[in-house]
Amino acid sequence: MDEALNELRQLIATSDQIVAFTGAGISTESGIPDFRGPNGVWKTSRPIEFGDFVASEDVRRESWRRKFGSNRMAEAAPNAGHLAVAALHRMDKLTHVITQNIDGLHQKAGVPADRVIELHGNANYAKCLDCEKRFELEEIRAIFFPDETVPYCDVCKGIIKTATISFGQAMPAREMMRAEEALQGCDLFLVMGSSLVVYPAAAFPRYAKQNGSKLAIINNEPTDLDPFCDLVLHRAIGETLSAAVD
Ligand code: NAD
Ligand code: ZN
Repeated sequence: MDEALNELRQLIATSDQIVAFTGAGISTESGIPDFRGPNGVWKTSRPIEFGDFVASEDVRRESWRRKFGSNRMAEAAPNAGHLAVAALHRMDKLTHVITQNIDGLHQKAGVPADRVIELHGNANYAKCLDCEKRFELEEIRAIFFPDETVPYCDVCKGIIKTATISFGQAMPAREMMRAEEALQGCDLFLVMGSSLVVYPAAAFPRYAKQNGSKLAIINNEPTDLDPFCDLVLHRAIGETLSAAVD
């Protein structure tokens, strides 16, 4: 085994309060493109901002059209990276996954939902923005097709939106608090597949390190936080983490 992988194995072996912090890069091997990686979707399809979504029914229609136009996220299956994170849970070494992803693949891989802190929500269901009633995508699909009717809440007439945090929308207070608690208690903060350029992703690893945790990054390109790390591997997540936990 090569030296860097051996170091990762050692770090994992000597830690038992691991927090995995994941971004879009852990799901590219499941066929979901990331935003800012070399093949990111950033330039081809600008995300819809929260303010525009709330302000215009046409924008909401466009957003549901995009949602139902591609089922890539709903059909995606966990990959070796998600499965290796779930293995850490089974080894009783993982306290939490903090994720920026909205695809639900950590849960599908076997990490219990109450261990997954979703900073940007979940794209696999929807919620009323006013009363927070939950709607399944199938219910909304049935309203939206065939005439592209924009759905509204049947309880309060509020606007329905996928249960994700869009650009321009406030970070969810409860999840932010849980994430801060989790990173204060960990002995290894393991970052995978995030470019670490937006808040809070850019701040969390530093914060964990300042609280006494070890810090490691697996990402196939450098990040600004590489110099603060105990270990950095510029490699593909799936094969790297699974080799380190087998
Ligand atoms: P990002 O797109 O900014 O960065 C992803 C990073 O992962 C890049 O540095 C890229 O080089 C690296 N990477 C990609 N595939 C990799 C692999 N197989 N192995 C190792 N490294 C790999 O991602 P981000 O920081 O999470 O920010 C994007 C935002 O967009 C997120 O906050 C999220 O809410 C949202 N998003 C989510 C999904 C999802 O749920 N799967 C997908 C796209 C975007
Ligand atoms: Zn409502």
